[in-house]
Amino acid sequence: MAVATNLAEINKQIETSCEKSNRNSDEITLIAVTKYVTIERNQEILDAGIKHFGENRNEGFLEKYKHFGDQAKWHFIGTLQTRKVKDIIDKVDMIHSLDRLSLAKEINKRADSPVDCFLQVNVSGEETKHGLNIEEVPAFIEQIKQYDKVRVVGLMTMAPHVEDQTLIRNVFRKLAELRDEMKARKLDYAPCEFLSMGMSNDFEIAIEEGATHIRVGSKLVKS
Ligand SMILES: *Cc1c(COP(=O)(O)O)cnc(C)c1O
Repeated sequence: MAVATNLAEINKQIETSCEKSNRNSDEITLIAVTKYVTIERNQEILDAGIKHFGENRNEGFLEKYKHFGDQAKWHFIGTLQTRKVKDIIDKVDMIHSLDRLSLAKEINKRADSPVDCFLQVNVSGEETKHGLNIEEVPAFIEQIKQYDKVRVVGLMTMAPHVEDQTLIRNVFRKLAELRDEMKARKLDYAPCEFLSMGMSNDFEIAIEEGATHIRVGSKLVKS
């Protein structure tokens, strides 16, 4: 299938979810997760009008960045190793996977200007998942104050891979509540405006629960 065909379907779903939840689709940024595909497919996505790319590995990101540069906005969505921060830091637009203070410290050390970061939160508490526990988030954000090159623009999570839609919805709802609490603190270094949640299988629920950034891979790039 052409990317444009997949995109038309996704856009329709975004509109429907927005209508259901009284939101405007302008509030939603669709990030094309292109970790599975080659530069040619990225080009097709760009031609279809999607400017936000998500990559989860340094190598993949750097290869694509070298090719497209500032034609796209770059979202780093995978586990970021501390020693690899320096390779990507002034190239990415947003990091979705800030999950430990040592990483914040390294970002602060290596960045030329403040970097927009999402805190990755392990809402479901699954042992295999990265991220802070919900209870750890308030104190973590306080610690970020010492790193003036780190801006916490929002919270990110991944829902568990389950059929149970109620369970998925509860995970997204909890993250939205936590975001509301953090946003209410009105911290200039942690505005916490955004919610990065929702992937191919659950972005509709995520939008209904307030997602501002959805990360869609397989459903967009499938052929
Ligand atoms: C791969 C990945 C996605 C996209 O997943 P799909 O199910 O293919 O849409 C989104 N977020 C993260 C963090 C990922 O690693």
